[in-house]
Amino acid sequence: MSERKEGVLYVVATPIGNLEDLSARAVRTLAEVDAIAAEDTRHTQRLLKHLGIERPLLSLHEHNESGRVQQLQARLLAGEQLALVSDAGTPLISDPGFLLVRELRSAGCRVVPIPGPCALIAALSVAGLPTDRFTFEGFLPAKSAARQRQLEAGADREETRVFYESPHRIRDLLADVVTTLGERRVVLARELTKTFETLLDGSANSLLETMADDSQQTRGEFVVMVAGAPAADTAVDDAEGETMLAAMLTEGVGVKSAAAVTTRLLGGRRKQWYQLALALKERESPAE
Ligand code: SAM
Repeated sequence: MSERKEGVLYVVATPIGNLEDLSARAVRTLAEVDAIAAEDTRHTQRLLKHLGIERPLLSLHEHNESGRVQQLQARLLAGEQLALVSDAGTPLISDPGFLLVRELRSAGCRVVPIPGPCALIAALSVAGLPTDRFTFEGFLPAKSAARQRQLEAGADREETRVFYESPHRIRDLLADVVTTLGERRVVLARELTKTFETLLDGSANSLLETMADDSQQTRGEFVVMVAGAPAADTAVDDAEGETMLAAMLTEGVGVKSAAAVTTRLLGGRRKQWYQLALALKERESPAE
């Protein structure tokens, strides 16, 4: 009796710019599988051509992913070996594939990673920001109000925050970082592994100034990394903060804005200044 091969889906990372970053294992896997599911088949076809590989391609993108699941599952159950790739980097990381992998795994299919390039990991590896803990937030919302809300919601997080951004929104994102997080340190990794790879470091405001002086700095693909909030026990001058908050409250500044300004100027945690501002306001005009 002939033994049927176990079907496997290989999730293959591909370069984020420099083709030399494709691993030997990735090349071998792409050459050996029965078919490759690709985010954009024309894009992947160019990569395969460069490698001298000819394999059948089928598209798998955000608009047809759910429809493809059954089809790919049937092929795996029949013992086929398949690969999943996205246009660049690691599939599923701000790219299609989550639905497919979730469904295949819950159906008991074998899913194997072929690790390699990933923009956020490459960026963190050179930023010089703490990497022991970080939050990856992918692309922020397109609308400024929603973007500011998300930036602000994480303002007290102590770990490094990582975002993806496109060239046409990078300045808007930095402007929102100025509004919500003030002088917080930002590292911008642009065009990683490509000819114009650049790392910029500074406050969001200073990065905007750099871009105003050199429009080249607004081009290409970006990973935006924002330093975490200072640790809760970082010494800040409470007395100075209290004076500052009291002065602003007397001038009619709202509790939330007063806390935001104090955090920006003195550091420390926004929540802590907010609570102090609330207490001061209560002292100033106690509730009946
Ligand atoms: N799956 C990919 C990965 O593993 O990084 C990410 C795909 S996501 C659709 C594309 C975003 O990743 C870009 O808008 C940019 O924010 C970031 N990115 C991709 N390549 C990059 C590069 N070479 N340099 C900087 N950022 C990059």
